[in-house]
Amino acid sequence: MSKFIIITGGVVSSLGKGISGASIGKLLQLHGLKVNMIKCDPYINVDPGTMSPYQHGEVFVTVDGAEADLDLGYYERFLDVNMTKANTNTAGSIYQTVIDKERRGEYLGATVQVIPHITNEIKKRFCAFEKECDVSIIEIGGTVGDIESLPFLEAARQLRLERGAKNVICIHVTLLPYIAVAQELKTKPSQHSVNKLREVGIEPSMLICRTEKPLSEGIKNKLSLFCNVPAQAVIECADAKSIYEVPRNFYNQKVDEQVLEFLGITPTQPINENWFKFFDKALTLSQKVKIAIAGKYSELQDAYKSVNEALRHAGMNNDAKVEITYINTEKDDVVAKLKEADGILIPGGFGTRGIEGKINTIRYARENKVPFLGICVGMQCAVIEAARNLCGLTDANSTEFDDQTKDPVVDLTPQQQNVEYKGGTMRLGHYTADLAKGSLAHKLYGKDQILERHRHRYEFNPKYVPLLEKAGLKVSGWHEGVLPEIVEREDHPYFIAGQFHPEFGSRPLRPHPLFDGLIKASLKNKASKK
Ligand code: GLN
Repeated sequence: MSKFIIITGGVVSSLGKGISGASIGKLLQLHGLKVNMIKCDPYINVDPGTMSPYQHGEVFVTVDGAEADLDLGYYERFLDVNMTKANTNTAGSIYQTVIDKERRGEYLGATVQVIPHITNEIKKRFCAFEKECDVSIIEIGGTVGDIESLPFLEAARQLRLERGAKNVICIHVTLLPYIAVAQELKTKPSQHSVNKLREVGIEPSMLICRTEKPLSEGIKNKLSLFCNVPAQAVIECADAKSIYEVPRNFYNQKVDEQVLEFLGITPTQPINENWFKFFDKALTLSQKVKIAIAGKYSELQDAYKSVNEALRHAGMNNDAKVEITYINTEKDDVVAKLKEADGILIPGGFGTRGIEGKINTIRYARENKVPFLGICVGMQCAVIEAARNLCGLTDANSTEFDDQTKDPVVDLTPQQQNVEYKGGTMRLGHYTADLAKGSLAHKLYGKDQILERHRHRYEFNPKYVPLLEKAGLKVSGWHEGVLPEIVEREDHPYFIAGQFHPEFGSRPLRPHPLFDGLIKASLKNKASKK
C-alpha cells in the first residue's frame, strides 16, 4: 500500500512544484523506494491538448497518448518512469467522468455533488498507483486559495482522515519575496498561504521556500513558529544553476530523512550519491556547441521544455555545453541568424504562422550541410522543402497550411478527415517504426524497430514518397509499411527528421539517439569551421 505526499503551492504559481516534487521523489527512489507521481490541474479543460503554448507551455505526451502538463516531463526525467494517462488529471476530466456516470444512471437517484462525488473521483485518481508503489507524490497545480483547487485540497484532507497522518503528508512550496530597500526576505505571504491551507483542514509538514537569498536561522524560526512546522522542515530552495542540483540541495537539508520519518518508512538502503555526482560534470563541460531552434515561440522557452532538456542531455553526453538560440521563423531573417549555428533543430508546431521561415531554414541546412534535426512539423517542412526546391513542385504544401495546394505532400489520412472533436483525437502516443537497414536512423538507434511518441494530425503523403526519394529524401522509417516516419539525406553529414517527438524519451543519463547524433554532428561541423 502506498503512502502519499501531497504537494501544494502558495503565494504565486510557477514556483517549480513539479521540480520540487520530482526531486523528493528522486531522493526516495535513491533510497530504494518505488515512487510514482500524479499531477492534478484544477482547470476545466479535459487536457491541455487544446491550449496554446502561451497559456500552458509545452504539452507533454505520454506513451499511452495522454496530452499532459509539462511537469510530467520532469517526473519522467527525474524518476525515469514512463508516465501514463493515470498520471495526469484535470478538473475537466474528473467532472467529465462524474457527469458521464450520472448520465448512465449510476448514482441511483442521488443528487450529484462536489462533496462527495467529485472528491471521491479525485481520491480514486490519487490512489491510481497505490498497489504498485511505496510512495505516491501528488502535485496539486495552481495556488492555494484559488477557488478551482478547493475540491482537490478537500480530497487530500479526506484522504488523510481516512488513511491517517502517518500515511498522508502535505509539503507546501512557497515564495519568500525579497524586498531590496528593506534588505529583507518577507515571510508574511507564506504565513497567509499556510493559513489558507489550514482553513481547509490541511496542516503542511514541510515548507519548501523559493528564495533569492539564503534563509537565516531567524527566518526559519519565524516560519516554523507561525506555520507550525519544525524549523528543520523549513527548506531553503534557491534558484539553481541546473534543475538536477535540486535533489542534492534537498538531500543536504535532510529532506529525505524527514519525509521518511513523517511517513514512518524505514528505507532499505542509504542514498546512492552517484546520481548527484553525475551532474557535477554538467557544470564543467569543456566544449561549446551552438544549436539554433527555429520555431514560432522563440520568446517562450517553456514551449520547448523537453527539446531543451533533450539537447542538454545529449550535450552532457558529449562533454559540450549547448548554447541554444531561438529563431522566430515568423519574424526573423532566418538565414542571417542561422550563420552562427553549428546545428539546427525545428521543433513541433501547429498552424500556418512561421512555416515559410521553417522551410527556408531547412533549405539553408540542406544546402550548407549544417546538421539538421526536424521534429514532427519539422519533418513535414523538410518534405515540403524538398518537393518545392528539388522536385519542381513549386506549389507543394501541407493541407494544414493550404487546403487548395496542387501537391498535398503532407495531408490528412482518411481517419483524420472525419474528426469532429479537436481534443484528444490526434495521432497520439507510442507507435512503432521499422527502420531501413544501413540508414542513418538504423545506425543511430542500433535497432530494427523503434517506438516513439506522436502528436499530430497530418502525415507525409505516401503517394509522393517515390518522387521525393529520387530527390534524395529517403524514408528510413515506416509505420507498418504505410506511414512514413523518418526521412533523411545521404548526401548530407546529418539531415534527419521524424514524424514523432523524440524529445519526450530523452533522459539525463540516457540521451536520445537523434539528439545525440545532432550534437555529435554539430561538434564536427564546428571543428571543421576552424
Ligand atoms: N501540425 C502538424 C500536424 O498536426 C504537426 C504537429 C506537430 O509538430 N506536433 O500534423
